[in-house]
Amino acid sequence: MAENFSFFQKVNKDFDKAAQFTEHPPGLLEHIKNCNNSCRFTFPIKRDDGTIQTIHGWRAEHSHHKLPTKGGIRYSMLVNEDEIMALAALMTYKCALVDVPFGGAKGGIQLDRSEYSESELERITRRYTYELIQKNYIGPGIDVPAPDFGTGEAEMAWILDTYLTMHPDKLNAIACVTGKPIEQNGIQGRKEATGRGVVFGLQEACSYADDMKQVGLSPGLQGKTVIVQGFGNVGYHTAKFLTESEASVIGIAEIDGAIYNPKGLDVEKVAMCRAETGSICHYPDAVVIENPLDSLALACDILVPAALENQLTVANAPRINARIIAEAANGPTTTNADAILQKRGILIIPDTYLNAGGVTVSYFEWLRNLWHVRFGRLGRRFEENTHNVMLRAVEKATGYQFSDDERELMHGADEEDLVNSGLQDTMANAYQEIRETQRCHGNPAVDCRTAAFINAINKIAVCYLQLGIFP
Ligand code: NAD
Repeated sequence: MAENFSFFQKVNKDFDKAAQFTEHPPGLLEHIKNCNNSCRFTFPIKRDDGTIQTIHGWRAEHSHHKLPTKGGIRYSMLVNEDEIMALAALMTYKCALVDVPFGGAKGGIQLDRSEYSESELERITRRYTYELIQKNYIGPGIDVPAPDFGTGEAEMAWILDTYLTMHPDKLNAIACVTGKPIEQNGIQGRKEATGRGVVFGLQEACSYADDMKQVGLSPGLQGKTVIVQGFGNVGYHTAKFLTESEASVIGIAEIDGAIYNPKGLDVEKVAMCRAETGSICHYPDAVVIENPLDSLALACDILVPAALENQLTVANAPRINARIIAEAANGPTTTNADAILQKRGILIIPDTYLNAGGVTVSYFEWLRNLWHVRFGRLGRRFEENTHNVMLRAVEKATGYQFSDDERELMHGADEEDLVNSGLQDTMANAYQEIRETQRCHGNPAVDCRTAAFINAINKIAVCYLQLGIFP
């Protein structure tokens, strides 16, 4: 079975499949599907050794039905225009699905970050930001980048600083980028948000006994065995929070090899081992699998691709030995692999839904930046005082003395509590809406990915039709 669709074509095939279940005007559907703008940036940088190198970068804004547009910036050798447009399109559908009021965008630079020094990466990031400013592809109400594969808080801080330097009098300039360090107007919980969202999504999906019965599993995450591919921001946090939910992470695949222990891996110790030695493969309490792709076929309940696109293909889909595929990465399953896995009765929880935690908390960060006040600052002490009055009244009426642990549960909500609560609510609601769409159209006629696309298309179409923005 040939797999000759580009990434953007794959996203559009998923869109077309879902569009059949809607009744929107064909012209509108065609417009939603297309990428509105995309821009290529080519600029020189001086390497540390004095040589000059040309850097290639892109930014695509897929949909302007809501502004600003929003999406991460990726540093990888695989970056090209098609990939960036595909990822921007996924951002549009993701934001719609979880009711985050942004259009979709994505940016990227074609480079392998391990080949550059920190100061080279800083110069590249600042120059890329300068290009974005020049072409009007960045701004708190225009287009707001965030971290993605190969980037993190440091790059976001350089983007912010460059933007502030160019716009010293703009009151809301700090909202030009999200995923910033906490000390630089970031928000508690953003770094962990995508992984935490994946786990909230899995908790919700695994809570339905009927759905779990269909894939031969019991409800709940407790005791479920998990293999995670990619141990970066998303993979590490997913593995960490799955462990906290009493699932057992038995395998982790990285670019240079995979580790496996059927009794479970200690995720924190694996992270420490990589930080100290440079590779997860030096972790002592596991079997090392030289070809990391082989680990994807090991038996487990949940397989979490959290690295890059096109990892589950026709070549390995028939051998996948998991009951649930949790798409933490964007586009990890090719179109043909998807068909094989669905036919085999494997539940695929799609990227458009499952990794939306990042953009959800980015939305909270953007709001916090526009308000210029930390969440919880106004109400926390008031809540705490009210709770204490209630506790004292109950103690007086019943003679019962609350312990320190019980009192701690009644603390006023701080920023992280509010962020995590908003994230959990968002992930639970969006999954319930997906399930409802599946029920209306007759599951399994409409799989989870198609239902997610149907919901996204409907929300975007309503926005266009209500706005009446057609000239
Ligand atoms: P990251 O750069 O922090 O980590 C990626 C990890 O994957 C690295 O450790 C890398 O070595 C590893 N990797 C690369 N190729 C691999 C391979 N073939 N096999 C095994 N491991 C491999 O990136 P991230 O932010 O964790 O992003 C991972 C995925 O999640 C991407 O698809 C990204 O688009 C998606 N995503 C990220 C966010 C976010 O907030 N960072 C949000 C939504 C979706």
